[in-house]
Amino acid sequence: MNISVPVAGAADDVKTVIADRQIRYLMASYVDMHGVCKTKMVPSGHLDQMLAGSEMFTGAALDGVPQQVNDDEVAAHPDPASMLVLPWDPSTAWFASDLWLSGKPFEACSRNILKRQTAAAADLGFRFNLGMEAEFYVLKNDGSGGQVSPRPLAKPCYDASSVLDNMGWLGEMVEAMNGLGWDVYSFDQEDALGQFEIDFAYADALTMSDRFVFLRMMANHIARKHGLFASFMPKPYANRTGSGAHFNMSLADLANGRNLFADKADPKGCGLSTLGYQFTAGVVRHLPAICAVVAPTVNSYKRLVKRGSMSGFTWAPIFACYGNNNRTNAVRIPLGGGRIELRSADAACNPYLGAAMVLAAGLEGIREGLDPGAPNRENMYELPADELKARGIRQLPRTLEEALDAFEADPLSRAVMGDLMADAWLSYKRDEWLSYMAHVSDWESERYLHFF
Ligand code: GLU
Ligand code: MG
Repeated sequence: MNISVPVAGAADDVKTVIADRQIRYLMASYVDMHGVCKTKMVPSGHLDQMLAGSEMFTGAALDGVPQQVNDDEVAAHPDPASMLVLPWDPSTAWFASDLWLSGKPFEACSRNILKRQTAAAADLGFRFNLGMEAEFYVLKNDGSGGQVSPRPLAKPCYDASSVLDNMGWLGEMVEAMNGLGWDVYSFDQEDALGQFEIDFAYADALTMSDRFVFLRMMANHIARKHGLFASFMPKPYANRTGSGAHFNMSLADLANGRNLFADKADPKGCGLSTLGYQFTAGVVRHLPAICAVVAPTVNSYKRLVKRGSMSGFTWAPIFACYGNNNRTNAVRIPLGGGRIELRSADAACNPYLGAAMVLAAGLEGIREGLDPGAPNRENMYELPADELKARGIRQLPRTLEEALDAFEADPLSRAVMGDLMADAWLSYKRDEWLSYMAHVSDWESERYLHFF
């Protein structure tokens, strides 16, 4: 099956590809606050109008496209460079779009929010490179929540038979990603049965964010073809590992692409440059507020635990700290250095907003020349409380409410998102928390109904 798709560069390239491939439908896609794709379908004869911003949307009909019902509509301005042909339906091309309002970029558009930060990085001569590790579950779509390879393994991680049993949908997914030019370099059965990870090449942060929102949609389309569904819920089962979306980050020299985070002579032995440490310090400083964005749901905080209902560790972070190649830190410098990994991010995040927050925090660290201190090399899950205190290490937020408090208290949040989006975020997410708190769960009934 040849599904390869050239990445288009400019409007003229797009026109050629659409004509050559006889593409019939175009998607002027953008995201709501959750990072879920929204679109209108445009017959390809209307390409020029679409690229000029003909597709209008009532923001008030969506979550976190903050508009009043009587406001003018926002217009999607598709980015020609983002065009791709749907691997499962070659009659249709998808575009990531910026939202505009009244002839200028809409302040609260997720893609515009990230672009403001990548522009700030560019002013300093940097390009922000991002790789996102996609962890997710693929389960039977029969209401059972069962997995394709239902074997009772105590330690399914990296299990060879499980990955082979799943190659039907998984092979199609990987082939589709490679057909899009994303360069998958590895994929596996993750820590829990039904959970998988697909790793693919990093890109500039905007491209990676476009890819991640598309990936979630594509995983569901491909899974459904196989009678399955893909879940990006951060912690679908209390007794299985959660799904992270670790951000692997570095800054490159805008002029020549050189990785500015790499330093083989790093005296701390992690292969990270001074610039990389400064960026890390900025990220660690703002981690609680960043959490509210990269771990954005009630359920996200059931992932950010040391053990919970599991028999082993979760590999998810619980402290605002950084370390060497050590998965118990929220920020890790993977072996070989040259990049840092934010482990608190989960699969439900809006990647544009998450990347914008973390980049702004990192740039602050660089501007202020911050020093994150020595990297933590121990198992942080087991470090005694007095030692954590001595190192000034804070706990990450333990609930969505704690994260929102941190988000609200940190001036960085508003500076990054702008007032419109910061207010919309807080209002929606505070409601989400209150709705959760109002719910009486099975756990409570089992524990208290007959207790007294
Ligand atoms: N699934 C783990 C998480 O929730 C991460 C496992 C890993 O290090 O790949 O972040
Ligand atoms: Mg993983």
